[in-house]
Amino acid sequence: MTSLDRPQPKPGVMDIAAYVPGRESAPGAAKVWKLSSNETPLGPSPAALEAVQEATQHLERYPDGSASKLRNAIAEAHGLNPANILCSNGSDELLGLLAQTYLKPGDEGIYTEHGFLVYRIQILAAGATPVVVKERNERTDVDEILAAVTDRTKIVFLANPNNPTGTYLPVDEVKRLRAGLPRGVLLVLDAAYAEYVRRNDYEAGIELVSSNDNVVMTRTFSKIYGLAALRIGWMYAPSHVVEAVNRVRGPFNVNSIAIEAGAAAIRDKAHVERAVAHNETWRTWLTEELEKLGLRVTPSVGNFLLVHFPMEGSKTAEAADAFLTSRGYILRRVTGYGFPNALRLTVGCEEANRGVIAALAGFLGR
Ligand SMILES: *Cc1c(COP(=O)(O)O)cnc(C)c1O
Repeated sequence: MTSLDRPQPKPGVMDIAAYVPGRESAPGAAKVWKLSSNETPLGPSPAALEAVQEATQHLERYPDGSASKLRNAIAEAHGLNPANILCSNGSDELLGLLAQTYLKPGDEGIYTEHGFLVYRIQILAAGATPVVVKERNERTDVDEILAAVTDRTKIVFLANPNNPTGTYLPVDEVKRLRAGLPRGVLLVLDAAYAEYVRRNDYEAGIELVSSNDNVVMTRTFSKIYGLAALRIGWMYAPSHVVEAVNRVRGPFNVNSIAIEAGAAAIRDKAHVERAVAHNETWRTWLTEELEKLGLRVTPSVGNFLLVHFPMEGSKTAEAADAFLTSRGYILRRVTGYGFPNALRLTVGCEEANRGVIAALAGFLGR
């Protein structure tokens, strides 16, 4: 029997390298610290947990297909029109919906060299062609993106800040990118880590979406809100984009528990402030300690650090990963992102942060 005797996936599908999530087990280690998926060490707001309990009372009912309660809560928190918000089962789903809605075979979707891998997966899944552009010093290069645009370009995916580098593009540069794109190209600003950024020249995308027809901003409850398990994402987009994506999405793509938990979480601003403060303190501390150990760290505005290991000798990222894992510290390998000799470290709780630095000092023989 040849493979032609069975159903064939459409072109592009078998070119996808399936997404590999951060590991969560470290066999043999007494205590495990998962620092591989950019999850918050603070967990979700207590108000969100309470809302989850409430929401389990009527699981026989379909959710509100328009997720009105969640959209209204998001709109209120950010000062937006709820009609321009669309919610999803994690922002990953939204990235896929945007690709399905705007890309067909023959079209091109652009993302950057070290950009989030879900973009490539979703461009291929839509049957379109991924176009990867160079970064400069682990930062998005607007000129490289603009130079890669062709008649076939339909979408540009940009994580800002980017994962796994943690670098960001200042608002003036995002505006220059938008201004240089043809009107028919959709610019997707993936702002999964926006809440963590405290820089005056950063803007997640609200202003750009409000003033243009071809920009959307995607957000998530998986990171600072600590609700990754419930899968809640949303986008702020022009009405014509919301109207198109609403036709493509599943009618009940956000479940009732997610709707209630998300609405409660976004109202708890104090919880977000605590998470930001914790992150600022420990990201700074971790960066300094890693540099004292002689490791290069890409300057990050997110809740994670890209840590580079020496190119020569035996102290490679692979060896560090094995050493740390055996001691219960799980970091993320980033070979698939073009960094074969780096690891991504999520800012954890104090005990995890101090422990991972001590373990790395042991690994490096300091
Ligand atoms: C974590 C992350 C997301 C969020 O994914 P969810 O599906 O909402 O959990 C989106 N984009 C980037 C760049 C991320 O790192």
